[in-house]
Amino acid sequence: MRLAILGGGQLAWMLAQAAEPLGVSVAVLDPAPDCAAGRIADHVVAAYDDPDGLDRVAEGADVVTYEFENVPAAAVTRLAERGVPVLPFPASLTVTQDRAREKELMAGLGIRVAPYALIDGPDDAAAALAAVGAPGILKTRRLGYDGKGQVRVAAPEGLTAAVSELGGTDLIYEGLVRFERELSVVVARGADGQTAVYPPVENEHRDGILACTIAPAPDLDAAKRAEAERVGVEVAEALDHIGVLCVELFDTPDGIVANEIAPRVHNSGHWTIEGAVTSQFENHVRAVLGLPLGDASARGAAAMVNIVGSEPDLAELLAVPGAHVHRYGKAPRGGRKLGHVTLVAPGHGDLGGPLGRVRALADLAWET
Ligand code: AMP
Repeated sequence: MRLAILGGGQLAWMLAQAAEPLGVSVAVLDPAPDCAAGRIADHVVAAYDDPDGLDRVAEGADVVTYEFENVPAAAVTRLAERGVPVLPFPASLTVTQDRAREKELMAGLGIRVAPYALIDGPDDAAAALAAVGAPGILKTRRLGYDGKGQVRVAAPEGLTAAVSELGGTDLIYEGLVRFERELSVVVARGADGQTAVYPPVENEHRDGILACTIAPAPDLDAAKRAEAERVGVEVAEALDHIGVLCVELFDTPDGIVANEIAPRVHNSGHWTIEGAVTSQFENHVRAVLGLPLGDASARGAAAMVNIVGSEPDLAELLAVPGAHVHRYGKAPRGGRKLGHVTLVAPGHGDLGGPLGRVRALADLAWET
């Protein structure tokens, strides 16, 4: 079997790693000659909307999938015209490329989301404030990631300036959710509609970028855990999603509030490589190829620490007992994800010392 992936970054690299033991060969399309997945997969170097590049990556593939949600519509159309299945289906992309459609979908499923209003010009600001109030966060509806394309609005009079800062149109203004912590839920859904739900995890961000995931989310009560899992499954079902998706959530005193959907394997699921019975990457490969899903249970407790900005010394990381180091082979740059380290232990209390050491090394690397 052969899998084609649009995008050749670290997510595609880890998908290719999961595909290899199953005897599934992988081709990636990525314009960057030195992309992470190019080290272990066949690599077509071309733009995502390049018809010839799309034809070449899809040649001989049983299915085409993607590692990022901003796949150009033209790419999906070209592949569809050639009769190559693209999974997850295009609906997963069109809904999740637009924060407004994403929120509409979730609200329609009875999932709590932050109050929001759409802003398509300066005249909409007053109505948005009347509906949502302040403080809030103004976001671009499309193409935002890792906290980019967002402005916090502390008081009502700040909204107009924020609107012009973000281009004046195609914006969404959300009420600020007062959360205790951030969570996410990763779900795999197979071609037969079966789902495998990973336990919800706790995520800590720094500068808008995921810094650390603790799995399963410590001390999450049964009702919130069930609600988080319901959100993941219902979103996957509503999109008829085949593959892995992630929903980012807020844990509030009044319950779970959903923030956004990623229609793909997710950074907050990296812990599953060592920490779950079947990784999110393997389950995505299984799902899009129509194979049975694997068990999504945790093997115990896990912590995943992102390496961002620069690389800590490899020997120092490996000196931490139980550290599983993943280096993406990317050039260091401020705010860029370069790798991650996972620790697995029988319980959360056993992660302590090693986790502190990995976090200290990662923090230092983030700052340099
Ligand atoms: P996003 O790009 O929507 O994932 O937002 C990035 C980060 O901004 C989230 O992980 C939260 O920490 C914060 N954030 C986004 N939306 C809200 C909101 N409505 N209320 C409070 N915090 C938010």
